[in-house]
Amino acid sequence: MRIAVLSGKGGTGKTFISVNLAVAANNACYVDCDVETPNGRLFLDDGSECAVRKTTVLSPMFDKDACTGCRACVDFCAFGALALVGGTPLLFDEVCHSCGGCLMVCNYSAISEQPRQIGQTESSMRKGLHVLSGRMDVGQSSGIPVIQDLLAQANNPLIIIDCPPGTACSAAECARHADYCLIVAEPSLYGTHNLQMVHEMITALDKPCGVVMNKVVDLENPAEQYCAQQRLEVFTRIPFDRDLARDLAEAKVMVEEDEEYRLLFHSLLERVQGQVMA
Ligand code: SF4
Ligand code: SF4
Repeated sequence: MRIAVLSGKGGTGKTFISVNLAVAANNACYVDCDVETPNGRLFLDDGSECAVRKTTVLSPMFDKDACTGCRACVDFCAFGALALVGGTPLLFDEVCHSCGGCLMVCNYSAISEQPRQIGQTESSMRKGLHVLSGRMDVGQSSGIPVIQDLLAQANNPLIIIDCPPGTACSAAECARHADYCLIVAEPSLYGTHNLQMVHEMITALDKPCGVVMNKVVDLENPAEQYCAQQRLEVFTRIPFDRDLARDLAEAKVMVEEDEEYRLLFHSLLERVQGQVMA
């Protein structure tokens, strides 16, 4: 069972929810797919040995002797990753999407492919929890190959996917692989807008979803109104709490620190699993 934890923006509490859900479960895998800013490991790194693996993609390589300078590859590349310089294609690595199209349109067998590293994945164990996290290299155009590499390594019965924030392709890629999407929302107008964006993306992917309301204060809550209008189930409401913020800043795993949170996350996990099984 794959549960994707999403939010419309960073700082909503997505990693807090993901990490604690994963620790609350038995024999689970936590996958940090927020590959631009992976921080789940800050909570889960207990110094255990960590296996590092490179993530590579294929990049075109040009044979100057075989190339006639016909421009077919340059004209084909929709990403603007090629320019003809001195009669030979010049590749801009960072914007190449490794689609292989230039290779297909070259009639002179002047293009081959070579692996190029764009990031890495890290795998370790923490008290029975499989911890996977990925990181894309600075300047790369897409973290999706790192995400795909991570998800291919996750094979526990329960997988909690800590998704990238927002609704870009990388978040959609995570949701696409999930059985259920859990949206973490904040009770503000801005939070409601972000909730709506994520909800629309998940709806377009035809995935079931529910909501965790985080940082709840005793004021008007437009995010709750949105959930009621859309008939979105709100599984739990976590109050805004300065003590919790301090504990999280100290990278504490709350289900291990506080009985109240242990019960909250066990109940949340049970209810989400119940939805998937229903
Ligand atoms: S399509 Fe082939 S021959 Fe034409 S410019 Fe590109 S590499 Fe050279
Ligand atoms: S592999 Fe695709 S994106 Fe990269 S240079 Fe070739 S056509 Fe452009």
